[in-house]
Amino acid sequence: MDIKIYNSLSNQIEVFKPLKEGQVTIYVCGPTVYNYVHVGNMRPVVVFDVLRRLFLHLGYNVTFISNFTDIDDKIIKQAQKENLSEAEIAEKYIKAFEEAREGVNALKPTYQPRVTKTMDQIIQFVKDLEDKGYAYNVDGDVYFRVSKIKDYGCLSNMKIDDLLVGARIEEDSKKESPLDFALWKKTDEGIKFDSPWGKGRPGWHSECVVMINSLTGDGRIDIHGGGFDLKFPHHENEIAQEEALKGHKIATYWMHNGFINVDNVKMSKSLGNVILANDYIKEFGGNTVRFLLVNTHYRLPVNFSNELATSAIKELNKFEATFKNLAVQMQLNNLPLDLKLDDSKLDIQAFLEALCDDLNTANALTEVYRVVKESNILLRNKELNLELLNKDFYTLKTMFDILGFKFEYPLLSDDDKKLYFDYNKAKKEKDFATSDLLRAKLIEKKIL
Ligand SMILES: [Zn+2]
Repeated sequence: MDIKIYNSLSNQIEVFKPLKEGQVTIYVCGPTVYNYVHVGNMRPVVVFDVLRRLFLHLGYNVTFISNFTDIDDKIIKQAQKENLSEAEIAEKYIKAFEEAREGVNALKPTYQPRVTKTMDQIIQFVKDLEDKGYAYNVDGDVYFRVSKIKDYGCLSNMKIDDLLVGARIEEDSKKESPLDFALWKKTDEGIKFDSPWGKGRPGWHSECVVMINSLTGDGRIDIHGGGFDLKFPHHENEIAQEEALKGHKIATYWMHNGFINVDNVKMSKSLGNVILANDYIKEFGGNTVRFLLVNTHYRLPVNFSNELATSAIKELNKFEATFKNLAVQMQLNNLPLDLKLDDSKLDIQAFLEALCDDLNTANALTEVYRVVKESNILLRNKELNLELLNKDFYTLKTMFDILGFKFEYPLLSDDDKKLYFDYNKAKKEKDFATSDLLRAKLIEKKIL
């Protein structure tokens, strides 16, 4: 099945073609770890997790990279505020991020590089750019010379001249052009790293490029992802640096996810409506956050509200109840729960087609509703069709696995099974006193 992706570089839907047959490398810009992540940070986590799970399901070998920016002015400031070292601040908020990632059931990245552990490579990279004339040093600050990149602006679809008109002219700037960006910053405060240009720290835009180069060998990846707000200048600058040093595009496909609104208003610190991810997951559950995110196409803004969360929980409870009832019937009929069935044996074609259509998770979810509905009809039949039971159970299992939902169901012991059969027998014989008693026991064991 072809996977079609909206490529932000061409502004077109394109058929995905991997650099290496059967393999895909995905890089997603990770958080700067200076505070607790909000639900907006969870959007790329969930979106690209579903993409990764889709590739895995289709048989690709997936390398998934997401970094931590563990040194930054914001981290230095926070360290002073909390009276901790920069490393302690980074550690604290990486832990909180990991908790949130696990909370929404996202797979652990294959690699999670950190800036402070990639310092030698970053310095070498900036030095190489300087040697080739793409970078210049002014009193310990090193800048990238944007004017040397002819197609600068290719991602944001802008020309250098247009960008110059809109560029903010900084007073006392040491830069040759307002579009030039920092590769290395001289710092007076906080932690400093030694470099050929003096003590300082790297500029944000170099970090991701260097990590990609050091983890992929030739510095080429298939898909580069991140929030829409990173498109310019961050991703534009990544492209420019790779182009300068290696003469090729760093990624074949660029994917950008949309923002999060809270009660239909853009979530922002200044408006005071920021929702912290871990709080929200604790209150409404990880499945709920995931549901709200996959219920909308990843390029559109998604809305969060208490009403939406409550109705998401209702839908998820229905999913879970149906899935549990299927799992119970599977066990009562001695059918195995952990086979790996071929797609042709599942009712999953339309679901996969939706996801392969630029990750249309909203349409994929419609398919989940359909199979849940059909399963409920099946389960109500007096004579259970075991072939359909098997098909529906594995179809839903696969769908939930690709969308990343996590549902529990009870594993029945022989005693549990006997209890269930006795309950059915009492019901048939209209022995209501016994059936009520057994029913209560089954509910207590979460089997009914
Ligand atoms: Zn990045």
